[in-house]
Amino acid sequence: MSEIRSLEELQTPDRTALVFTPYGLGKAMPAEDSARYLQSLVANCELASDAGEATRREFDRLQRLFPYGVLEYDVFTVIDDRALLVMEQALRERFVQWCAGAITFEDAASGGAPVTANVRSYDDVFAAVKKLGRRSRRRQQPRARWQLKVGNTLIDFNGTLAGLRAWARAAGLLRGQRTRGIEHAMSRLRNAVAHPTGYHRTTPVETARTLHDLAEFINQLWGHPTPGGRLYPAPVERDVNVMAWNDEGSLYLAPADALREDSDADGYVYLLIRCVFRPGSRLDDAHWSAFDARFETTQFPADYLWGPGSRSEALAWLDAHHPEGDTVDYVDRVFMLREHDGHLYPPMRAEVAAGLTGEEQRGTWHTVRADFPEHAFAHVRGLNGSPTAHARTGDCEGCPVHQLGSGTHEQALRAAEDAIGTVIHQRPPAVRTPDSFFWPHRF
Ligand SMILES: [Zn+2]
Repeated sequence: MSEIRSLEELQTPDRTALVFTPYGLGKAMPAEDSARYLQSLVANCELASDAGEATRREFDRLQRLFPYGVLEYDVFTVIDDRALLVMEQALRERFVQWCAGAITFEDAASGGAPVTANVRSYDDVFAAVKKLGRRSRRRQQPRARWQLKVGNTLIDFNGTLAGLRAWARAAGLLRGQRTRGIEHAMSRLRNAVAHPTGYHRTTPVETARTLHDLAEFINQLWGHPTPGGRLYPAPVERDVNVMAWNDEGSLYLAPADALREDSDADGYVYLLIRCVFRPGSRLDDAHWSAFDARFETTQFPADYLWGPGSRSEALAWLDAHHPEGDTVDYVDRVFMLREHDGHLYPPMRAEVAAGLTGEEQRGTWHTVRADFPEHAFAHVRGLNGSPTAHARTGDCEGCPVHQLGSGTHEQALRAAEDAIGTVIHQRPPAVRTPDSFFWPHRF
């Protein structure tokens, strides 16, 4: 029998927790400060008010328990493990809501009538899946493959976490190619928690991050991407900016209003673009200096507006047109890439690829879905390497890209239209910043 501790002993701070400070691991903090610090780590992860009731209560409980790690360090590990199970619970609750009373299964192979089951709880979902299995056995149809109908697609679904993830992706509730891999890792972790094989311990910093990720996951399931999010980011703001460069290799990017400052810097060429400009933030575009009006060479989408020309011309255009900023979604973008004469060219938007001349359309084209152009490029380049490293169709397991199609320009464009609807062609001028080593081949 373990010893019975007094209330005072239970209230004694756990020294292991005190060494986690706002500046990293350090000298143990006073317990009072540690309690405040721990609460601040999870203070700003909030759920949308329309998230499922049971999910909200589970999440609130974890958030509330978190600072008690100051008294018992193992609380962090228990919360971290529990969070992975709450992820599955959120999927179940959202699934039942999505069903709106009924789910439909079809056996595409047999071509028989669809089967619909009424569902009010997740237990009803399991019961419906089991019943289909019994039905196939009774009718001696071992090859029957009942699939869940999600919009216009059919997916394998047996009620487990893998099926729920496939459903959430097919229903468009979860998004982003990079996060697809993270979801896969999270569900492997969840399985390790459900079937533990060893002892482990988690730090408060890791657990706080898990809770932030869980909040993003739940909010996205209920239709709310997170502003500045790590997993499911909301659309990002773009402003009208001016890019300027000279022959000596200087290159600047600044808000367009910088043109109004009285500067007589001669020898500069000016270009107006609409782009993400957040120096020092996580949304800082690492590749802004590679801007090209026709190719997706920057990390975030950037639109050509005017130029190149002189400062006074740029200012005149700005005052005549009053261009404004906007917000743009950058995850799950559709890119088209051309391979021709042994060169792979940088990704293009489908609209720009659609506006190319017959000569420019020659070669083999690939249409992919990716969050960032560099992912699209690396994937397509990888297709020419090891035959199994990258998927030639569908979700790539080797990288955060979904291959939509490839072939002629026409076939690739059709694959893009299947994904994003009618593509209206654009033909921006061949304007770009001085040569970038990263993208040597362009046209
Ligand atoms: Zn790939």
